[in-house]
Amino acid sequence: MISYIGIGSNLGDSKQTIRSALQNLNAHSSIVLESHSHFYQSKPHGPQDQPDYLNAVAKINTSLSPLHLLHALQAIENEHDRVRTKHWGPRTLDLDILVYEGQTLNTDHLTIPHPYMRERPFVIHPMYEISPDFVFDDGQSLAELVTLSPKDELNKLEPIDVL
Ligand code: ATP
Ligand code: CA
Ligand code: CA
Repeated sequence: MISYIGIGSNLGDSKQTIRSALQNLNAHSSIVLESHSHFYQSKPHGPQDQPDYLNAVAKINTSLSPLHLLHALQAIENEHDRVRTKHWGPRTLDLDILVYEGQTLNTDHLTIPHPYMRERPFVIHPMYEISPDFVFDDGQSLAELVTLSPKDELNKLEPIDVL
C-alpha cells in the first residue's frame, strides 16, 4: 500500500536526522522508500520559543497495516532520541502518517488522513513536489491546496544524497 509520511525535526543536526530517518524507513523489511521531497526549513508552529524546523515528505510502499506502520515510525523516532515533552514542543524527530491508501481512520491512536495536514504549508508543498497529481478520497486535489497554502515562510534546501 502507498502511504505518505510527514517528517520533521528541530533539535540536534536536523538534516542528518531526516537523512537517517529516510534510510531507516527504507531499511525496514516491510517498507520500500519510493521517493522523498527536498528538505524545507520553516518557522515553528505552536510555541515560538524553539528552533526552526526542517521538514520533508516521503512516499513509501508498505505491507504494514496503518497501526503497525505507526509503531514502526515510533520505533524510528525513539532510535533518534525522541523525548516527549510539551505538545508541539521541540523534537529530534517526528514521523506522521499523512495518508494511507484507501484508509480513513478516526481512533484514539490514529487519524488518517492526518487531521492538520491540509493547513500545513510544510506538508502540502513537499508532498506536491513528489506527487503533483495526488487527490484525496473526498475529491480535493493537492494542486488546489497548493494554491491556498502560503509558501513564503518555507525555504527549500539544496538536495542532499540520502541513500
Ligand atoms: P500533530 O499531530 O499536530 O502533528 P505531533 O506530531 O506533535 O502533533 P505527537 O506527540 O508526535 O504529535 O503524537 C501524538 C499522538 O498522535 C501519537 O501518539 C499518535 O498515537 C497520534 N496520532 C494520531 N494520528 C496520527 C497520525 N496520522 N500519524 C502519527 N501519529 C498520529
Ligand atoms: Ca506532527
Ligand atoms: Ca507525530
